[in-house]
Amino acid sequence: MLKDILKNKVPFYTLYPTQSNWGKIEDNKNFNRYLEKFVKSNSQTSMYLHFPFCPKQCYFCHCYTVISKKEEHYEKISLSIIKELELLFKKIKKNIDGKLKVTDVHFGGGTPTVMPLKYFKKISELIYENVDKNYLKEIALEVDPRNNMNSEKLLGYADFGVNRLSIGVQDFDTDVQKAINRVNEYDLINNLLNKEVRDKFESINFDFIFGLPKQSLKSLEITTNKIVELKPSRITLLNMDHRPDIYKHQKAYKETDLPSDEEKLKMYNQCSKILLENKYNKIGVNHFALGDDILSKYKSEKKLYRNPNGFSPGWAYDMISIGPSATGKLGDYYYQNVYSIDKYIENIDNEIFPVSREKTLSGEDIKRRKIIMDLLNFEEINLEQLSNSNILSENVVNSLKEFDKIKFLKFNEKLKSYSVSELGSYFINHICNVFDEYKENKYQSQREFKDGIRSLDRNINLNKI
Ligand code: SF4
Repeated sequence: MLKDILKNKVPFYTLYPTQSNWGKIEDNKNFNRYLEKFVKSNSQTSMYLHFPFCPKQCYFCHCYTVISKKEEHYEKISLSIIKELELLFKKIKKNIDGKLKVTDVHFGGGTPTVMPLKYFKKISELIYENVDKNYLKEIALEVDPRNNMNSEKLLGYADFGVNRLSIGVQDFDTDVQKAINRVNEYDLINNLLNKEVRDKFESINFDFIFGLPKQSLKSLEITTNKIVELKPSRITLLNMDHRPDIYKHQKAYKETDLPSDEEKLKMYNQCSKILLENKYNKIGVNHFALGDDILSKYKSEKKLYRNPNGFSPGWAYDMISIGPSATGKLGDYYYQNVYSIDKYIENIDNEIFPVSREKTLSGEDIKRRKIIMDLLNFEEINLEQLSNSNILSENVVNSLKEFDKIKFLKFNEKLKSYSVSELGSYFINHICNVFDEYKENKYQSQREFKDGIRSLDRNINLNKI
């Protein structure tokens, strides 16, 4: 039974409906309308900026990246990101007297730490000038510890307002690092995080991955213990998804070097056990946080919120996103920018928001989104709240009973609610899938979407621009 469930691929829910069910846009009418409506609503929002270049390809990666070491490429995209921000703030000024209430900003990618510092500075200044600073609580930066990174450079980001770092660690085992084309040794990261850096940043997150080629239970146990030794305040434990049909670079390692689905479940349980024994609290399926990290506090107060970047302290439920491929949410409207770097730059040069696909949620979508988000955020399903809706169909009821039988869910008769068990949290996306009205649609990676040129084409000719 467990074997069959493990084989059944389901989407990774961060938004509902998931991106494979969004449509290609004809024009920007909807985007402009929802942006205006959102701005006038005076709501709080998160902001995401996507820097799409990386100097080197990591073989496990699913992010939208274009591999380039050319400074001129970094420069071109940085200037366009700045222009997109200016376009956005111009539009906002037209619609409100005050300033946008951005609560948190996330610089992601790609590798935003290779963005030339003068542009990073310009972007931070633009944000500070144009958002209401009374609401801005966090600026987070994804850090690649390689590429000439050092403690001084990290401390320099604090001068631009960055107060949270998210470091891509992935694994410390030499064979695994070689197999995934990403070598960042323990000492490199240990040296980066000196006392000054640790004192300066409120929160330091590590990303690490289970299910990588050449990984074994033993090697992962050693890596997990080393991670605990370095004591990041937050950890994101990611499940490697092998999709060489979409991500051609995943053909670079041997499939036979990958752990099986059953081994991966054991790996997850082992990592989880070590982290829990070392005073990390579990936050949803793949986040762990020490007691003094804000995520732990907000989890206990039931204020957490899952956005496309992971768990957030629930300061905002919406997200304005900037940069190629970036995904945004404005109330009941989702949008995504074009993947193609050339098209992105062309749109921005013509002062057009570079949106390529969108989804306006129906009443039914909104109801189902609430159930799925409650599952992700609080790991529970309240049957009483669903009793008057059409959602509790016979199929859904039976699936939940099945999950109860195999101990993914636990029913509380008194509260008439299911809570997700420790084992079930590994299968949280399978449980969410029960409520997905689009689940009969082909399971697609969002990268199968095409936006004019093939979205998977990494050989974009930036030199032509
Ligand atoms: S894992 Fe990070 S650094 Fe590596 S290719 Fe992907 S985005 Fe780039």
